Amino acid sequence: MSDPTMPHVLDTYTRLPVAFTHGRGCRVWDDQGREYLDALAGIAVNTLGHAHPALVAALQDQVAKLIHVSNYYQSPLQEQLAAHLCALSGLDAVFFCNSGLEANEAAIKLARKSGRDRGVAHPKLVVFEHAFHGRSHATLSATGNPKIHAGFEPLVPGFVRVPLDSLEALEALDDPEIVAVFLETIQGEGGIRPASTAYLQGLRALCDARGWLLMLDEVQCGLGRTGHWFAWQESGVRPDVMALAKGLGSGVPVGAIAVGPRANGVLRRGNHGTTFGGNPLAMRAGVETLAVIERDGLLTNATARGAQLADALRDTFATTAGVTDIRGRGLMVGVELDRPCGDLALRALEAGLLLSVTADRVIRLLPPLVITADEVDEVVARLAPVVKTFLATPPLTA
Ligand code: PLP
Repeated sequence: MSDPTMPHVLDTYTRLPVAFTHGRGCRVWDDQGREYLDALAGIAVNTLGHAHPALVAALQDQVAKLIHVSNYYQSPLQEQLAAHLCALSGLDAVFFCNSGLEANEAAIKLARKSGRDRGVAHPKLVVFEHAFHGRSHATLSATGNPKIHAGFEPLVPGFVRVPLDSLEALEALDDPEIVAVFLETIQGEGGIRPASTAYLQGLRALCDARGWLLMLDEVQCGLGRTGHWFAWQESGVRPDVMALAKGLGSGVPVGAIAVGPRANGVLRRGNHGTTFGGNPLAMRAGVETLAVIERDGLLTNATARGAQLADALRDTFATTAGVTDIRGRGLMVGVELDRPCGDLALRALEAGLLLSVTADRVIRLLPPLVITADEVDEVVARLAPVVKTFLATPPLTA
């Protein structure tokens, strides 16, 4: 059944019955004039919220000057954004693309090529259960969710899957064709599951000992969301390759990989490319997003508002049977229920709140990093009755 309001658009998404016309900060309005509080930020994309004046001004200026010219020419704006990302991460060089899956695709290609360059015939990557890396053929094959594989077999070969947070499972791998370990620092679609600091540290040591690249997918958790520029900075474990997208352009599509010394120089001229990647409009969005995060202290805000949100949720649901866990880092928060709760996205929408449900039973909150203390209180005030009413309603039996 296709959406009757969009008969000419291929029906690949389950959409909620609302169309937004504009936004400001953490609020958006629909075409009936109704206001909503945005605790999803376009799935961790709208870092600066909606219509941030500095981003609007920068993009208007850029649109009037130059939107696109291609990678046939030098790009001072690419260099400016790349240099800033390198300074923030301690990594050495950046490749720009347009989305999360493209960043991960570049990382996977880099890993394979690093192996081929040293004579490994069929280089393999270690990937994880419940991981999500995107919907291209290689990235869906790296993804650890059978629903995403279904219908697209044969999958791309060369991925070895292990459970998250078990160093023993990794240590037991005895395969000379393994060249890299690839994981989300915090699993997003998998239900807001952070890799522990001890695990990341153990992984780094194991990768160093075995000559594997450590590649972190920070597409959802990166760019200030956890209160650090990159979620791995909390553990002090620097990857060899980091993938970014979502929040980097605050709504304008930008993806990137940043690489350290062991991965720098693997991808050379002619090995990889994309027409739109790093175009001036996208780069200006990235440059301005980083500048506003710095200028407005949004890392500190993510830490403080994230703690406020998690504490308030714990207080509110302390005695609510059916809420089994509240977890996350900074403004990446999951509320896990004891039952599937896909309906909650619609119920929350009706209560004027945007959120999503992931991994069937985890309510996911990813508000813009500009969220205020009052807005955090309002998120909890709008969410609490929705969850409590849902949990009080007996589940439908077949
Ligand atoms: N990696 C992670 C961790 C993600 O959460 C996502 C999207 O949700 C992707 C990759 C894919 O990004 P995109 O949808 O921009 O291709």
